[in-house]
Amino acid sequence: MAKGKREIGIRFYGGAREIGGSCIELSLPDGRRVLLDCGGKFKKDGRTVYPEIEKPEKIDIAFLSHPHADHSLGFLHARQIGLNCPIITTEMTKQTSVVTFCDAHKLEVEREEEPRFTYGKIAQVLNLMKTDRSRGQFEGLSYKLFPAGHIPGAVAAYLGYGHKSILYTGDINNNETRLVAERGKLPHADVLIIDCTYGNRLHPDREKTEQDFRQMIEGTVAGNGCVVIGAFAVARSPEILLLLTEINPDCPIYVDGMPRDIVKVYLENIQYLKNRDLEKIRGQVRFVSGSNHRRYVANMRPAIVVASGGMLNGGAILHYAKAVAPDEKSVLALTGYQVEGTNGRRALEEGRIEINGEVIDLKCSVRRFSFSTHLDSDGIKKTIVEVMPKLVIAQHGDEQSVRAVVKMARNLNIKAIAPAIGERIIV
Ligand SMILES: [Zn+2]
Repeated sequence: MAKGKREIGIRFYGGAREIGGSCIELSLPDGRRVLLDCGGKFKKDGRTVYPEIEKPEKIDIAFLSHPHADHSLGFLHARQIGLNCPIITTEMTKQTSVVTFCDAHKLEVEREEEPRFTYGKIAQVLNLMKTDRSRGQFEGLSYKLFPAGHIPGAVAAYLGYGHKSILYTGDINNNETRLVAERGKLPHADVLIIDCTYGNRLHPDREKTEQDFRQMIEGTVAGNGCVVIGAFAVARSPEILLLLTEINPDCPIYVDGMPRDIVKVYLENIQYLKNRDLEKIRGQVRFVSGSNHRRYVANMRPAIVVASGGMLNGGAILHYAKAVAPDEKSVLALTGYQVEGTNGRRALEEGRIEINGEVIDLKCSVRRFSFSTHLDSDGIKKTIVEVMPKLVIAQHGDEQSVRAVVKMARNLNIKAIAPAIGERIIV
Protein backbone atom coordinates (compact mmCIF):
# COMPACT_ATOMS: atom_id res chain seq x y z
CA MET A 1 0.00 0.00 0.00
CA ALA A 2 1.41 3.34 -1.01
CA LYS A 3 2.07 5.79 1.80
CA GLY A 4 -0.32 8.69 2.07
CA LYS A 5 -3.38 6.70 0.97
CA ARG A 6 -6.18 6.11 3.44
CA GLU A 7 -6.99 2.55 2.45
CA ILE A 8 -6.11 -0.60 4.34
CA GLY A 9 -4.82 -3.63 2.42
CA ILE A 10 -5.99 -7.11 3.48
CA ARG A 11 -4.10 -10.15 2.29
CA PHE A 12 -5.16 -13.75 2.83
CA TYR A 13 -2.36 -16.24 3.38
CA GLY A 14 -4.68 -19.09 4.36
CA GLY A 15 -8.13 -20.00 5.67
CA ALA A 16 -9.60 -18.46 2.51
CA ARG A 17 -12.28 -20.67 0.87
CA GLU A 18 -10.92 -23.43 3.09
CA ILE A 19 -10.43 -24.39 6.73
CA GLY A 20 -6.81 -24.50 7.82
CA GLY A 21 -3.85 -22.19 7.95
CA SER A 22 -5.86 -19.12 9.00
CA CYS A 23 -3.63 -16.09 8.46
CA ILE A 24 -4.52 -12.57 7.38
CA GLU A 25 -2.28 -9.54 7.01
CA LEU A 26 -3.46 -5.96 7.19
CA SER A 27 -1.26 -3.24 5.71
CA LEU A 28 -2.02 0.14 7.15
CA PRO A 29 -1.79 3.40 5.19
CA ASP A 30 1.45 4.35 6.98
CA GLY A 31 3.11 1.10 5.87
CA ARG A 32 2.82 -0.73 9.18
CA ARG A 33 1.76 -4.38 9.07
CA VAL A 34 -0.63 -6.34 11.30
CA LEU A 35 -1.08 -10.12 11.40
CA LEU A 36 -4.36 -11.80 12.39
CA ASP A 37 -3.68 -15.41 13.41
CA CYS A 38 -1.07 -17.66 11.84
CA GLY A 39 -2.18 -21.27 11.65
CA GLY A 40 -0.98 -24.58 10.32
CA LYS A 41 -2.69 -26.37 7.45
CA PHE A 42 -2.93 -30.15 7.53
CA LYS A 43 -2.31 -31.89 4.22
CA LYS A 44 -3.76 -35.25 3.18
CA ASP A 45 -0.36 -36.91 3.44
CA GLY A 46 -0.11 -35.99 7.13
CA ARG A 47 2.26 -33.05 6.60
CA THR A 48 1.54 -29.64 8.05
CA VAL A 49 2.28 -26.53 6.02
CA TYR A 50 2.49 -22.95 7.22
CA PRO A 51 1.74 -19.49 5.81
CA GLU A 52 4.74 -18.10 3.95
CA ILE A 53 4.59 -14.53 5.16
CA GLU A 54 6.62 -12.04 3.20
CA LYS A 55 9.30 -10.35 5.31
CA PRO A 56 7.89 -11.54 8.67
CA GLU A 57 10.55 -9.51 10.49
CA LYS A 58 8.71 -6.38 9.32
CA ILE A 59 5.35 -7.33 10.89
CA ASP A 60 4.65 -4.74 13.62
CA ILE A 61 1.95 -6.42 15.71
CA ALA A 62 0.05 -9.71 15.65
CA PHE A 63 -3.16 -11.05 17.20
CA LEU A 64 -3.91 -14.65 18.15
CA SER A 65 -7.64 -15.42 18.44
CA HIS A 66 -7.29 -18.85 20.10
CA PRO A 67 -4.88 -21.77 20.43
CA HIS A 68 -6.34 -24.24 17.90
CA ALA A 69 -3.49 -25.36 15.65
CA ASP A 70 -5.11 -24.06 12.45
CA HIS A 71 -4.88 -20.56 13.97
CA SER A 72 -1.75 -20.71 16.10
CA LEU A 73 0.81 -23.22 14.84
CA GLY A 74 2.12 -21.04 12.02
CA PHE A 75 3.54 -18.62 14.60
CA LEU A 76 6.27 -21.18 15.26
CA HIS A 77 7.24 -21.18 11.60
CA ALA A 78 6.87 -17.40 11.34
CA ARG A 79 9.20 -16.94 14.33
CA GLN A 80 11.66 -19.30 12.66
CA ILE A 81 11.76 -17.07 9.59
CA GLY A 82 12.00 -13.80 11.48
CA LEU A 83 8.73 -12.73 13.13
CA ASN A 84 9.62 -10.67 16.17
CA CYS A 85 6.64 -8.56 17.21
CA PRO A 86 4.19 -8.63 20.13
CA ILE A 87 1.42 -11.20 19.73
CA ILE A 88 -1.66 -9.89 21.52
CA THR A 89 -3.80 -12.65 23.02
CA THR A 90 -5.32 -13.87 26.31
CA GLU A 91 -3.63 -15.68 29.19
CA MET A 92 -5.80 -18.77 28.65
CA THR A 93 -4.77 -18.91 24.99
CA LYS A 94 -1.11 -18.54 25.94
CA GLN A 95 -1.35 -21.36 28.49
CA THR A 96 -3.12 -23.73 26.08
CA SER A 97 -0.82 -22.79 23.18
CA VAL A 98 1.99 -24.38 25.21
CA VAL A 99 0.19 -27.73 24.80
CA THR A 100 -0.59 -27.19 21.08
CA PHE A 101 3.02 -26.23 20.34
CA CYS A 102 4.56 -29.06 22.38
CA ASP A 103 2.26 -31.53 20.62
CA ALA A 104 3.56 -30.28 17.24
CA HIS A 105 7.10 -30.89 18.50
CA LYS A 106 6.13 -34.39 19.67
CA LEU A 107 4.58 -35.25 16.29
CA GLU A 108 7.78 -34.19 14.53
CA VAL A 109 9.82 -36.44 16.83
CA GLU A 110 7.37 -39.36 16.33
CA ARG A 111 7.65 -39.01 12.56
CA GLU A 112 11.40 -39.09 12.99
CA GLU A 113 11.69 -35.69 11.36
CA GLU A 114 14.35 -33.25 12.43
CA PRO A 115 12.30 -31.15 14.91
CA ARG A 116 11.95 -27.64 13.53
CA PHE A 117 10.02 -26.58 16.59
CA THR A 118 12.45 -27.04 19.42
CA TYR A 119 11.44 -26.13 22.97
CA GLY A 120 13.68 -23.06 22.61
CA LYS A 121 11.68 -21.85 19.59
CA ILE A 122 8.42 -22.57 21.38
CA ALA A 123 9.59 -20.47 24.34
CA GLN A 124 10.50 -17.61 21.99
CA VAL A 125 6.96 -17.50 20.57
CA LEU A 126 5.39 -17.70 24.04
CA ASN A 127 7.62 -14.80 25.12
CA LEU A 128 6.21 -12.69 22.29
CA MET A 129 2.66 -13.27 23.57
CA LYS A 130 1.31 -10.29 25.52
CA THR A 131 -1.71 -11.19 27.60
CA ASP A 132 -2.19 -8.16 29.84
CA ARG A 133 -3.80 -5.90 27.25
CA SER A 134 -7.31 -6.67 26.09
CA ARG A 135 -7.43 -3.17 24.66
CA GLY A 136 -4.77 -0.72 23.64
CA GLN A 137 -3.21 1.66 21.18
CA PHE A 138 -0.40 0.81 18.87
CA GLU A 139 0.66 4.12 17.37
CA GLY A 140 -2.36 5.04 15.21
CA LEU A 141 -4.02 1.64 15.58
CA SER A 142 -6.50 0.98 18.39
CA TYR A 143 -7.55 -2.53 19.30
CA LYS A 144 -9.93 -4.30 21.62
CA LEU A 145 -10.48 -8.01 22.21
CA PHE A 146 -14.01 -9.38 22.64
CA PRO A 147 -14.88 -12.86 23.99
CA ALA A 148 -15.75 -15.06 21.00
CA GLY A 149 -17.49 -17.86 22.94
CA HIS A 150 -15.72 -20.52 20.84
CA ILE A 151 -13.48 -22.03 23.54
CA PRO A 152 -12.12 -20.67 26.85
CA GLY A 153 -9.95 -17.64 26.14
CA ALA A 154 -10.97 -17.29 22.47
CA VAL A 155 -11.39 -13.71 21.32
CA ALA A 156 -12.47 -11.65 18.34
CA ALA A 157 -10.18 -8.70 17.50
CA TYR A 158 -11.60 -5.25 16.84
CA LEU A 159 -9.19 -2.89 15.10
CA GLY A 160 -9.68 0.81 14.49
CA TYR A 161 -7.49 2.93 12.26
CA GLY A 162 -8.44 6.50 11.34
CA HIS A 163 -12.08 6.41 10.33
CA LYS A 164 -12.05 2.67 9.52
CA SER A 165 -12.80 -0.32 11.71
CA ILE A 166 -12.37 -4.05 11.17
CA LEU A 167 -13.71 -6.90 13.27
CA TYR A 168 -12.01 -10.27 12.87
CA THR A 169 -14.09 -12.96 14.59
CA GLY A 170 -11.51 -15.77 14.68
CA ASP A 171 -13.60 -18.87 15.41
CA ILE A 172 -16.83 -17.78 17.02
CA ASN A 173 -19.93 -19.19 18.67
CA ASN A 174 -23.08 -17.72 20.17
CA ASN A 175 -24.23 -20.57 22.37
CA GLU A 176 -23.22 -21.31 25.92
CA THR A 177 -21.23 -24.54 26.48
CA ARG A 178 -20.24 -26.38 29.66
CA LEU A 179 -16.95 -24.44 29.68
CA VAL A 180 -17.71 -21.09 28.08
CA ALA A 181 -20.40 -18.53 28.91
CA GLU A 182 -22.47 -17.05 26.11
CA ARG A 183 -20.42 -14.35 24.44
CA GLY A 184 -21.37 -10.73 24.90
CA LYS A 185 -22.36 -8.24 22.24
CA LEU A 186 -19.96 -7.41 19.42
CA PRO A 187 -19.35 -3.81 18.32
CA HIS A 188 -20.26 -2.28 14.99
CA ALA A 189 -17.41 -2.39 12.46
CA ASP A 190 -17.06 -1.30 8.82
CA VAL A 191 -15.52 -4.61 7.79
CA LEU A 192 -16.47 -7.96 9.30
CA ILE A 193 -14.13 -10.89 8.64
CA ILE A 194 -16.24 -13.84 9.72
CA ASP A 195 -15.85 -17.56 10.51
CA CYS A 196 -18.00 -19.50 7.98
CA THR A 197 -17.28 -23.11 9.05
CA TYR A 198 -21.02 -23.88 9.05
CA GLY A 199 -22.05 -21.16 6.58
CA ASN A 200 -24.52 -23.38 4.75
CA ARG A 201 -25.81 -25.53 7.61
CA LEU A 202 -27.82 -25.43 10.80
CA HIS A 203 -26.66 -27.29 13.89
CA PRO A 204 -28.92 -30.09 15.05
CA ASP A 205 -30.70 -29.52 18.33
CA ARG A 206 -28.09 -29.73 21.10
CA GLU A 207 -30.34 -31.55 23.57
CA LYS A 208 -31.21 -34.18 20.96
CA THR A 209 -27.49 -34.63 20.12
CA GLU A 210 -26.65 -35.16 23.79
CA GLN A 211 -29.53 -37.63 24.13
CA ASP A 212 -28.30 -39.61 21.09
CA PHE A 213 -24.76 -39.55 22.51
CA ARG A 214 -25.99 -40.82 25.88
CA GLN A 215 -27.92 -43.67 24.19
CA MET A 216 -24.86 -44.61 22.12
CA ILE A 217 -22.68 -44.71 25.26
CA GLU A 218 -25.15 -46.73 27.32
CA GLY A 219 -25.95 -49.14 24.46
CA THR A 220 -22.29 -49.83 23.65
CA VAL A 221 -21.33 -50.32 27.30
CA ALA A 222 -24.29 -52.70 27.81
CA GLY A 223 -23.16 -54.64 24.71
CA ASN A 224 -19.63 -54.98 26.10
CA GLY A 225 -18.07 -52.73 23.45
CA CYS A 226 -15.59 -49.92 23.55
CA VAL A 227 -16.45 -46.33 22.61
CA VAL A 228 -13.48 -44.50 21.14
CA ILE A 229 -14.15 -40.78 21.00
CA GLY A 230 -12.04 -38.56 18.81
CA ALA A 231 -12.10 -35.05 20.15
CA PHE A 232 -10.20 -31.90 19.30
CA ALA A 233 -8.00 -31.72 22.33
CA VAL A 234 -8.42 -28.05 23.10
CA ALA A 235 -11.81 -27.47 24.76
CA ARG A 236 -13.77 -30.22 23.01
CA SER A 237 -12.21 -33.03 25.03
CA PRO A 238 -12.81 -31.47 28.50
CA GLU A 239 -16.39 -30.70 27.35
CA ILE A 240 -16.93 -34.35 26.32
CA LEU A 241 -15.38 -35.57 29.59
CA LEU A 242 -17.80 -33.40 31.54
CA LEU A 243 -20.72 -34.85 29.59
CA LEU A 244 -19.42 -38.38 30.15
CA THR A 245 -19.16 -37.88 33.90
CA GLU A 246 -22.78 -36.66 33.87
CA ILE A 247 -23.82 -39.83 31.97
CA ASN A 248 -21.80 -41.79 34.53
CA PRO A 249 -21.49 -45.03 32.54
CA ASP A 250 -20.89 -48.38 34.19
CA CYS A 251 -17.27 -48.69 32.94
CA PRO A 252 -13.99 -46.80 33.21
CA ILE A 253 -13.46 -43.56 31.25
CA TYR A 254 -9.94 -43.07 29.93
CA VAL A 255 -8.28 -40.05 28.42
CA ASP A 256 -5.17 -40.26 26.26
CA GLY A 257 -2.88 -37.95 24.30
CA MET A 258 -3.08 -34.20 24.21
CA PRO A 259 -6.48 -34.04 26.02
CA ARG A 260 -4.68 -35.17 29.19
CA ASP A 261 -2.45 -32.09 29.10
CA ILE A 262 -5.31 -29.78 28.19
CA VAL A 263 -7.42 -30.99 31.12
CA LYS A 264 -4.46 -30.26 33.39
CA VAL A 265 -4.01 -26.74 31.99
CA TYR A 266 -7.74 -26.04 32.29
CA LEU A 267 -7.78 -27.22 35.90
CA GLU A 268 -4.79 -24.99 36.66
CA ASN A 269 -6.51 -22.01 35.00
CA ILE A 270 -10.03 -22.73 36.15
CA GLN A 271 -10.69 -19.03 36.83
CA TYR A 272 -10.91 -18.50 33.04
CA LEU A 273 -13.66 -21.12 32.64
CA LYS A 274 -17.36 -20.41 33.04
CA ASN A 275 -17.47 -22.22 36.39
CA ARG A 276 -15.57 -24.83 38.41
CA ASP A 277 -17.55 -27.82 37.05
CA LEU A 278 -14.47 -29.34 35.44
CA GLU A 279 -13.21 -30.21 38.92
CA LYS A 280 -15.95 -32.88 38.97
CA ILE A 281 -14.00 -35.06 36.53
CA ARG A 282 -11.20 -35.55 39.07
CA GLY A 283 -11.36 -39.13 40.30
CA GLN A 284 -13.83 -40.13 37.59
CA VAL A 285 -11.48 -40.06 34.63
CA ARG A 286 -8.31 -42.16 34.30
CA PHE A 287 -5.25 -40.93 32.45
CA VAL A 288 -3.47 -43.33 30.10
CA SER A 289 0.27 -43.30 30.60
CA GLY A 290 2.77 -45.06 28.39
CA SER A 291 2.44 -47.51 25.49
CA ASN A 292 1.82 -50.65 27.61
CA HIS A 293 -1.03 -48.97 29.43
CA ARG A 294 -2.40 -47.83 26.05
CA ARG A 295 -2.35 -51.40 24.68
CA TYR A 296 -4.14 -52.63 27.78
CA VAL A 297 -6.84 -49.94 27.56
CA ALA A 298 -7.36 -50.51 23.80
CA ASN A 299 -8.33 -54.12 24.52
CA MET A 300 -10.49 -53.46 27.54
CA ARG A 301 -14.27 -54.07 27.19
CA PRO A 302 -16.44 -52.31 28.07
CA ALA A 303 -14.58 -49.01 28.17
CA ILE A 304 -14.69 -45.44 26.96
CA VAL A 305 -11.63 -43.66 25.63
CA VAL A 306 -11.36 -39.98 24.75
CA ALA A 307 -8.25 -39.48 22.66
CA SER A 308 -6.63 -36.72 20.63
CA GLY A 309 -7.02 -36.62 16.86
CA GLY A 310 -10.45 -35.13 16.13
CA MET A 311 -10.22 -35.90 12.40
CA LEU A 312 -8.38 -39.25 12.77
CA ASN A 313 -5.38 -37.79 10.98
CA GLY A 314 -2.91 -38.35 13.78
CA GLY A 315 -2.69 -38.51 17.55
CA ALA A 316 -3.45 -41.18 20.12
CA ILE A 317 -6.85 -41.95 18.55
CA LEU A 318 -5.25 -43.92 15.69
CA HIS A 319 -4.04 -46.59 18.09
CA TYR A 320 -7.55 -47.09 19.49
CA ALA A 321 -9.25 -46.79 16.08
CA LYS A 322 -7.09 -49.65 14.83
CA ALA A 323 -7.92 -51.73 17.92
CA VAL A 324 -11.71 -51.33 17.62
CA ALA A 325 -11.84 -51.46 13.78
CA PRO A 326 -12.67 -55.23 13.57
CA ASP A 327 -15.03 -55.16 16.58
CA GLU A 328 -18.70 -54.88 15.59
CA LYS A 329 -19.70 -54.17 19.20
CA SER A 330 -17.55 -51.06 19.41
CA VAL A 331 -18.08 -47.51 18.22
CA LEU A 332 -15.78 -44.90 16.78
CA ALA A 333 -17.38 -41.56 17.62
CA LEU A 334 -16.37 -38.29 15.96
CA THR A 335 -17.35 -35.06 17.62
CA GLY A 336 -16.42 -32.26 15.26
CA TYR A 337 -16.21 -31.03 11.70
CA GLN A 338 -14.39 -33.46 9.39
CA VAL A 339 -12.45 -31.63 6.70
CA GLU A 340 -12.50 -33.17 3.23
CA GLY A 341 -9.56 -35.51 2.61
CA THR A 342 -9.14 -36.41 6.29
CA ASN A 343 -9.42 -39.92 7.69
CA GLY A 344 -12.47 -38.79 9.67
CA ARG A 345 -14.35 -37.87 6.48
CA ARG A 346 -13.25 -41.17 4.89
CA ALA A 347 -14.44 -43.14 7.93
CA LEU A 348 -17.89 -41.55 7.69
CA GLU A 349 -18.26 -41.77 3.92
CA GLU A 350 -16.36 -44.94 3.00
CA GLY A 351 -16.14 -46.91 6.26
CA ARG A 352 -12.38 -47.13 6.13
CA ILE A 353 -9.30 -45.23 7.23
CA GLU A 354 -5.65 -45.20 6.29
CA ILE A 355 -2.86 -45.40 8.85
CA ASN A 356 0.73 -45.17 7.64
CA GLY A 357 -0.29 -46.35 4.16
CA GLU A 358 -2.32 -49.30 5.50
CA VAL A 359 -6.03 -49.23 4.58
CA ILE A 360 -8.19 -50.45 7.46
CA ASP A 361 -11.85 -51.42 7.01
CA LEU A 362 -14.04 -50.38 9.90
CA LYS A 363 -16.41 -53.11 11.09
CA CYS A 364 -17.17 -51.09 14.21
CA SER A 365 -19.88 -48.42 13.93
CA VAL A 366 -18.76 -44.94 12.98
CA ARG A 367 -20.94 -42.17 14.44
CA ARG A 368 -20.72 -38.42 14.24
CA PHE A 369 -22.09 -36.09 16.89
CA SER A 370 -22.22 -32.38 16.31
CA PHE A 371 -20.78 -30.71 19.40
CA SER A 372 -19.67 -27.77 17.33
CA THR A 373 -18.67 -24.50 18.95
CA HIS A 374 -18.88 -22.48 15.73
CA LEU A 375 -21.80 -20.36 14.58
CA ASP A 376 -24.22 -22.13 12.26
CA SER A 377 -25.84 -20.27 9.36
CA ASP A 378 -28.50 -18.74 11.64
CA GLY A 379 -25.81 -17.60 14.09
CA ILE A 380 -23.78 -16.11 11.24
CA LYS A 381 -26.79 -14.14 10.05
CA LYS A 382 -27.48 -12.82 13.57
CA THR A 383 -23.82 -11.83 13.94
CA ILE A 384 -23.81 -9.95 10.63
CA VAL A 385 -26.96 -8.08 11.70
CA GLU A 386 -25.37 -7.37 15.10
CA VAL A 387 -22.16 -5.89 13.64
CA MET A 388 -23.95 -4.34 10.62
CA PRO A 389 -20.78 -3.85 8.56
CA LYS A 390 -20.44 -2.21 5.15
CA LEU A 391 -18.48 -5.22 3.93
CA VAL A 392 -18.56 -8.89 4.94
CA ILE A 393 -15.48 -10.98 4.22
CA ALA A 394 -16.44 -14.65 4.36
CA GLN A 395 -13.57 -16.96 5.24
CA HIS A 396 -12.68 -20.08 7.31
CA GLY A 397 -15.14 -22.29 5.44
CA ASP A 398 -15.22 -24.51 2.37
CA GLU A 399 -16.32 -23.12 -1.03
CA GLN A 400 -20.03 -23.84 -0.49
CA SER A 401 -20.05 -22.38 3.03
CA VAL A 402 -18.35 -19.09 2.14
CA ARG A 403 -20.53 -18.75 -0.97
CA ALA A 404 -23.65 -19.23 1.18
CA VAL A 405 -22.52 -16.49 3.58
CA VAL A 406 -21.75 -14.09 0.72
CA LYS A 407 -25.27 -14.68 -0.62
CA MET A 408 -26.76 -14.28 2.87
CA ALA A 409 -25.00 -10.91 3.40
CA ARG A 410 -26.00 -9.64 -0.04
CA ASN A 411 -29.62 -10.53 0.75
CA LEU A 412 -29.22 -8.20 3.73
CA ASN A 413 -28.02 -5.52 1.28
CA ILE A 414 -24.45 -5.72 2.59
CA LYS A 415 -21.49 -5.99 0.24
CA ALA A 416 -19.77 -9.36 0.61
CA ILE A 417 -16.81 -11.22 -0.82
CA ALA A 418 -15.01 -14.51 -0.27
CA PRO A 419 -11.36 -13.89 -1.20
CA ALA A 420 -9.07 -16.70 -2.38
CA ILE A 421 -5.69 -17.61 -0.92
CA GLY A 422 -3.05 -15.09 -1.93
CA GLU A 423 -5.66 -12.47 -2.84
CA ARG A 424 -5.15 -8.92 -1.62
CA ILE A 425 -8.02 -6.51 -1.33
CA ILE A 426 -8.28 -2.85 -0.40
CA VAL A 427 -10.89 -1.51 2.02
ZN1 LIG B 1 -11.06 -23.12 16.68
